[in-house]
Amino acid sequence: MRRKCFLCGRLETDYLGLERHHIFGGANRQLSEKYGLTVMLCHNCHNEPPRGAHYNKETADYLHRYGQEKAMREQGWDKQMFISIFGRNYLDI
Ligand SMILES: [Zn+2]
Ligand SMILES: [Zn+2]
Repeated sequence: MRRKCFLCGRLETDYLGLERHHIFGGANRQLSEKYGLTVMLCHNCHNEPPRGAHYNKETADYLHRYGQEKAMREQGWDKQMFISIFGRNYLDI
């Protein structure tokens, strides 16, 4: 089955690859890797202005919320536990 962009749904083709994006970057990049908090994105949604995750706060925040919910669900963490590991809360803001 072909993979598709997590944000726009565009299918991966031989000519158009997808790029793996770490939902929490910077100091938390290693934690994103450790807990499987990455998504596959097309280049536009990943690293191009104006909507790409590395250019657009709304796009990044949407992924942050998704990532926090995923981590809490999969790891069985409550919000406090997530904050103690990732340093902040991205939900309800
Ligand atoms: Zn896309
Ligand atoms: Zn990225």
